[in-house]
Amino acid sequence: MTSQPKSYHLPRQILFFMLIGVIIFSGSGFYTFQQIASRLDAGAASNSRDRVKEGLASLQTHVRLFSKDYNNWTDVYAAAWRGDIEFIANNYGITANQGEIFELAMMFGGPFRRPVSWIENGSRSPGGLIFSVETISSALMALEDQDETRPSVDFFAVEGGRAVIMTASYLLPDPDQIVTRDTVKASAVTIIGRHLSSRDLAVIEQDAGISDLQITTGPKPGYLSMPLTDVTGRDTLHLIWKAARPGMALVEQLAPVIAIVAAAFVALATLATWLVLRNARQLILREVEARELARTDALTGLPNRLAFNEAVQVEPTTVASEFALVMMDLDRLKQTNDVLGHAVGDCVLRDFSERLQLCADAETFVARLGGDEFCAIVRGSGAAERAQAFLAVLEVRCSKPVKVRGESVHLSFSAGIAAHVLSEHVDETLRKADLALRRGKSALEERIGIYDVDMDLADKSTLLLEQGLRAALRNPDEFRVVYQPIIPANHNGALRVEALARWTNPILGAVGPDQFIRVAERTGLISELGWIIIDKVLADLATTQTVCASINISPLQLMKPDFVSDLLLRLNRAGIETARIQIELTENVMIRDQQAILDRIREIRSAGVKVALDDFGTGFSAISYLTATEFDSIKIDGSLLRSAGDSQSREDFFYSVVSLSRAVCRDVVVEGIETQEQAQMAKNSGADAFQGYLYGIPSAFDIACGLHSSPDLNARSAISGKADNLPNLIQWSETRFQNNATILKLPLVMHPAASKS
Ligand code: C2E
Ligand code: CA
Ligand code: CA
Repeated sequence: MTSQPKSYHLPRQILFFMLIGVIIFSGSGFYTFQQIASRLDAGAASNSRDRVKEGLASLQTHVRLFSKDYNNWTDVYAAAWRGDIEFIANNYGITANQGEIFELAMMFGGPFRRPVSWIENGSRSPGGLIFSVETISSALMALEDQDETRPSVDFFAVEGGRAVIMTASYLLPDPDQIVTRDTVKASAVTIIGRHLSSRDLAVIEQDAGISDLQITTGPKPGYLSMPLTDVTGRDTLHLIWKAARPGMALVEQLAPVIAIVAAAFVALATLATWLVLRNARQLILREVEARELARTDALTGLPNRLAFNEAVQVEPTTVASEFALVMMDLDRLKQTNDVLGHAVGDCVLRDFSERLQLCADAETFVARLGGDEFCAIVRGSGAAERAQAFLAVLEVRCSKPVKVRGESVHLSFSAGIAAHVLSEHVDETLRKADLALRRGKSALEERIGIYDVDMDLADKSTLLLEQGLRAALRNPDEFRVVYQPIIPANHNGALRVEALARWTNPILGAVGPDQFIRVAERTGLISELGWIIIDKVLADLATTQTVCASINISPLQLMKPDFVSDLLLRLNRAGIETARIQIELTENVMIRDQQAILDRIREIRSAGVKVALDDFGTGFSAISYLTATEFDSIKIDGSLLRSAGDSQSREDFFYSVVSLSRAVCRDVVVEGIETQEQAQMAKNSGADAFQGYLYGIPSAFDIACGLHSSPDLNARSAISGKADNLPNLIQWSETRFQNNATILKLPLVMHPAASKS
């Protein structure tokens, strides 16, 4: 549910960057090495080309020098003009015949009417044309283009399929004789040539440090080449050779070393990557642990508030997600801590958490928000109904008390459910669930609040009442206590009244106790209010010595740890005997933690204060309470009597409840008697006392006690403390009970309905 932290991608990122690093490093290393090698090779290649060029140039120079030597020769020049071919053959042609300096020689033009030529191993008598016409004409053109006084042209030619190094020039007198341009033009042209031999190639090979130097018709792959250009600048043949490759040699030499270094580098990089990855994984694990820890409640192991907040905030983004929030509050954790110690409290929390988790299915997320607060997110369709089912199961699981250190602690909780409404912000759902929980907490019977709109409206009026109540608690004069008499059937005993709280707020007006008591309970103000009422009752009781008062006590006040000691302290301070007080507890109090309530009742009774079970027959009456506890009184709710008039079976039921109550309790009071018929039925039931508008509506203390405008002034003095006047008061009550006619005459403020009857 939580988003994955960035660091979970760390191992992949590390691997990626390490790999990139290795690739870049080895790639650049390889590239640099390769560059060095190829530069070395390129350097060697260009060097070899220069050397080959030099070798060729030196051969060419050789030919040119001989050409200069042989063609600027006065004797031969004169012989040509004389027509002495033999002289030329013996001194010039013989050199070509012998092939030592040049192997081909030809003269034409000038004094020669036909070309004369000599070739190596040829005859002394001259031959004719030995060079191609193309070569000759090109050479002639090149010669004519020259500005020199003794022009010459060096070139290559292919003659007879072989490469020949040639020089063309004019046959002229010795260089010490000055020749004119005209003389030159009129002279014979000579061309001497020398075959490019394998010996020449071997010399060049050796000088240039190359191998496999060949003459070919074109370049060849894997070989360096250089064209041999003819006199017109056209490529005739190519020289090709293999140059030394020092780069390659270096590569070959260093390859094993490089391989070892590369392997070591890769190994180191792998090791470094592994170490970094291992550390990264440990870091991530630690981070995951820390995240878990930060989101886990240390005591219960449940997700904590942070985890809940994250989980709940994710919800609205999930498309069409249906979910309900359940807020839960464990009862009486503080008391458990205070009375049994924190270790026991912790056990209770842990036990409750376990039960909570057992109730959660795969779609339910449970968390402890802190203290006694828990929550659940129920997801999926029908979330609200499933949330209720979840709580029902939890209630069943909690029915078994927690056994810890010999103590048996009852588990109970209040809860609130709110279904998430699409488009509503989750905070609003949270607020609703909280409101529903508050409702569940303050309700006596249904401890599970399910949010509806009325709750919000009620909450607003509750808020108004709460504000009024808080102000009133600072000004207790707004509260009054009225009393309603409880009339004994046997006309004996002290006069009993039930104290009922009244509140008149300057703004809200008179607010009914049903309303403000509930608000006080919900807002936690009930104890404070309860003590104000008790103090007022004690003040009224202090004005008499005999009247006994029943005081309604909210279970929330009853269960306060110091309730009994506080009550006794106040009784003592007011000088009231404990026996003059009876506490009325509505029977619905029993649906809360029974054991704790029963213990508290026993504590109160052992202090001498009486306890009545109020409104019996209305709610979740369980006969077992009646046998389990001895209440001093049981008050049968008026609704039972009212419905008894409806049918025989209901009448029978009413009688049964009274007689059942009488079987376990000495004092059974029938409440809410409004008519003569009801009074008769109540009497017939055998009840011990009666209460209702027929006998007296709730009124001021002295009126309820029959002291105000009493026919017998002694009675007033009796209540003010004179014990000897007690019989008068009893007598007065009896009269009133026995004869309805007298009631009208009695100083009681009658209920309109009763007055009419
Ligand atoms: P309750 O304890 O059952 O009190 C009796 C209620 O029945 C009183 O209503 C009383 O006025 C009314 N009643 C008396 N006779 C008749 C009758 O013949 N017919 C009908 N229909 N009603 C009759 P009230 O005073 O409005 O009090 C309502 C409830 O408020 C009480 O019910 C009690 O539960 C609670 N309450 C009143 N005062 C206090 C108090 O000081 N502390 C606490 N904790 N609760 C109080
Ligand atoms: Ca009552
Ligand atoms: Ca009652």
